[in-house]
Amino acid sequence: MKFNVRSRGDHDSNVLTQRVKSYLQEFDLEYDEEEPEIVISIGGDGTLLEAFHQYAHRLDETSFVGVHTGHLGFYADWQPDEVEKLVIHIAKTPFKIVEYPLLEVMIRYTNDQETERYLALNECTVKSMEGSLVMDIEIKGEQFETFRGDGLCLSTPSGSTAYNKALGGAILHPSLASIQLAEMASINNRVYRTIGSPVVLPEHHTCLLKPKNDVDFQVTVDHLTHVQKKVKSIQVRVADEQVRFARFRPFPFWKRVKESFI
Ligand code: NAD
Repeated sequence: MKFNVRSRGDHDSNVLTQRVKSYLQEFDLEYDEEEPEIVISIGGDGTLLEAFHQYAHRLDETSFVGVHTGHLGFYADWQPDEVEKLVIHIAKTPFKIVEYPLLEVMIRYTNDQETERYLALNECTVKSMEGSLVMDIEIKGEQFETFRGDGLCLSTPSGSTAYNKALGGAILHPSLASIQLAEMASINNRVYRTIGSPVVLPEHHTCLLKPKNDVDFQVTVDHLTHVQKKVKSIQVRVADEQVRFARFRPFPFWKRVKESFI
């Protein structure tokens, strides 16, 4: 089996990365950065997000597993002192795959005909850089509301415990293929009105954001910032692709939620 190990880049993660790499090679697994079947990410959730984006073009062929060298992560749920056990699992046992839904984000520009497509593991956010952002929001092809405020966050179920949670969004189990739309400081008064609570859309319901004013804003997909050009629209829906996590032992989602937050 071909594997890659990605480190966050700090000393502890680098040392552990070298250990995992040489253990796996001792088991005759092949180190391959181009076409790995499994990627072991060592660091935190951010390291796994980076690994995901590196291999987003081959999600059918690459599975991910995360080791945390800091605090327990949502995606990075193995501890450093468990890596020997993890390596033996990878080398010796056919692993179980757990698939989680992703978001497809399509950005269209005013000047270009071109469209850019991204996949998000956690979320896509649209945030004003100055002043209030004004956006028409269409759901399933129908005008839903005009948003005024700091920004919007559209998250995956597994991303619902990240930025979305900080915005008062609900935690969704990753078996619910859906997108959650949460507001960042919407203006609500007698003139402006938004729904004011997070909204969850099922698969095949598209959410379209159309900027209405000339304010500079930023579009992020997970830890990455995109777009400096004029945006015509941002379309978000549940992607056809899914991310695959290699599971070697049960670690139920709600147990991870409890251990991370309570
Ligand atoms: P970072 O170093 O700022 O990490 C942010 C924190 O988010 C870390 O503690 C990480 O463990 C946690 N995290 C990431 N994904 C998670 C998930 N699915 N569930 C629970 N916690 C999760 O940035 P990074 O490591 O590059 O991660 C980028 C992510 O940071 C973004 O996708 C976004 O979700 C999150 N973020 C959160 C806030 C906020 O909560 N106010 C603000 C900006 C970004």
